[in-house]
Amino acid sequence: MEAKIKAFMDEVKTRNGHEPEFIQAVQEVAETVIPYIASNEIYNGKNILLRMVEPERLISFRVAWVDDKGEIHVNRGYRIQMNSAIGPYKGGLRFHPSVNASILKFLAFEQVFKNSLTTLPMGGGKGGSDFDPKGKSDDEVMRFCHAFMLELNRHIGPNTDVPAGDIGVGAREIGFLFGMYKKIRNEFTGVLTGKGLSWGGSKIRPEATGYGTVYFAQSMLKTKNNDVSGKTVVISGSGNVAQYAAEKVIQLGGKVVTMSDSSGFIYDKDGIDEDKLAFIMDLKNNKRGRISEYVDTYSAATFHKGEKPWGVKCDIAFPCATQNELGLEHAQQLMKNGCICVVEGANMPSTADAIHAFHKAKILFAPGKASNAGGVATSGLEMSQNSLRISWTREEVDERLKGIMSDIHDSCIEFGKEDDGYCNYVKGANIAGFVKVADAMLAQGII
Ligand code: NDP
Repeated sequence: MEAKIKAFMDEVKTRNGHEPEFIQAVQEVAETVIPYIASNEIYNGKNILLRMVEPERLISFRVAWVDDKGEIHVNRGYRIQMNSAIGPYKGGLRFHPSVNASILKFLAFEQVFKNSLTTLPMGGGKGGSDFDPKGKSDDEVMRFCHAFMLELNRHIGPNTDVPAGDIGVGAREIGFLFGMYKKIRNEFTGVLTGKGLSWGGSKIRPEATGYGTVYFAQSMLKTKNNDVSGKTVVISGSGNVAQYAAEKVIQLGGKVVTMSDSSGFIYDKDGIDEDKLAFIMDLKNNKRGRISEYVDTYSAATFHKGEKPWGVKCDIAFPCATQNELGLEHAQQLMKNGCICVVEGANMPSTADAIHAFHKAKILFAPGKASNAGGVATSGLEMSQNSLRISWTREEVDERLKGIMSDIHDSCIEFGKEDDGYCNYVKGANIAGFVKVADAMLAQGII
């Protein structure tokens, strides 16, 4: 089996040699899915996985825009349309200087499995730009978003490809992008998700990824007759996912002691309560400030410049910032300090060797493609509401979100439970996600 996986990965590396994040994401899937293919006759000899690692379409384009001083800038825009076997391409847009084809291909690839796990009819895609919204005025962000959509609009549509937000793309950016799409196409459709509530957005969509991640943690802990209440929780990030993961942990009686951004982390030994979290939300979403400013107001807390929070003693860790932010040393630190559960809010925040260490120690570990699927699931619910031209209540959407997260958890158990009773959620998520897409591809023939 190892030889089969190696031969497959050699081929992937030959074609995508300069794309380390993409190779990392494919390797993780190959290790679990290739043995499954080998033991299931219908997938044999069809090269399904090789077809799945090749994007159906990779679009790259120039985005030229003018700053407040009249200077012209050029950024690179992308849309990766990875797989449409089970529905229109669906996945977020990321605006961050680190964005390149490798990062977007890894995200698009993961998205295919994640969207399949939600049981909703959504294919996988991802896009974005190396544009950095940080330090830009609202007008500059608007001009960039408009320029970006001038090209992107011809590749997307409510039945073709439905983008959403991701790092650097929140409510403000979705508004500007939607405005330009509507103007060019002269149609008001659900072409983007994460929209404002008064113009087609779904209730709970901003909260969904963070809330869903914590609901998933609850399901995992339940298998050990445990729950979030009374637990000390370490969270990285202070953006959309981190904020709402923190909010749900607090609501369920857990104590959140850290949050972070790319400059470092804050540690509040007394816990970040609802008022303190409201301060962080205002700081990040309205003032667009740095997390270090927290300690100017809450002086009992400390700021740790340039560091990650994984050395802080905790029961549960939620990495909610970015890829590869939790390495082997961090994993060892967490487990040495008694951490029993690691649940990914971000996409691929743990490195491969960190994941192997969690599995070896048999602690609860959830990969983002399962535990952070609540965001795209609620985007799927937003698409349904747009198509039906109705709006569900907060309670209705939250109940559906809880149901979807619980079903994803059950699928992971179904395909990931090992002989000794330990659940390998990575294996479970990969195989459960693969089966639905692979079956659709088989049915649709070689295209
Ligand atoms: P935001 O832009 O709202 O927040 C991102 C957070 O991560 C910020 O605190 C940011 O700090 C920090 N961060 C970004 N890059 C780095 C870096 N290189 N090193 C350290 N910290 C960094 O993004 P989201 O909260 O939406 O996304 C966070 C993660 O969750 C991503 O992996 C995303 O793909 C994933 N995700 C998001 C979903 C969603 O619905 N939004 C759905 C599913 C997954 P700073 O402000 O300093 O840059």
